[in-house]
Amino acid sequence: MPHYICPKCKDRSVDLDGVEGFSTQAPACRRCGFGFLFELMDDYYPAPSTGFVVCDQEGRVLATGKGVFELSGYKEEDLIGRDVKEIVDADPNPVSVALEWGVRRLDQRVGLKTRAGLHKPVVADLFPALDDDGGLLVALRPAS
Ligand SMILES: [Zn+2]
Repeated sequence: MPHYICPKCKDRSVDLDGVEGFSTQAPACRRCGFGFLFELMDDYYPAPSTGFVVCDQEGRVLATGKGVFELSGYKEEDLIGRDVKEIVDADPNPVSVALEWGVRRLDQRVGLKTRAGLHKPVVADLFPALDDDGGLLVALRPAS
């Protein structure tokens, strides 16, 4: 059963009635109307402070959700088109690993380069897209 999460408002949904499956377009969020839901293999419960970054198959930012500004100081328009590795810093970088191998990476301790130039410790969960287009969902939350 497919699970979906809205990168904008973090609404989780399950395709119980198959409505999403009938559409040839990417399913839209029923709560906030954002036109792109991310399909996950398993349900995922983001922390309240989690911010999502949606990337294409090369790691370029397509959209950001609630919480990213609070974490990084960047607005969505500051980040669109940029390589997410410019702000998510680690060696080896879990972004590269997730994209290259198509594997989930959970609880990755990384540095977040904020707009103010700080290097903030955060925890990242990375979900490669299940569809053929590729892409990556990056969930960032403050390290406790
Ligand atoms: Zn939504």
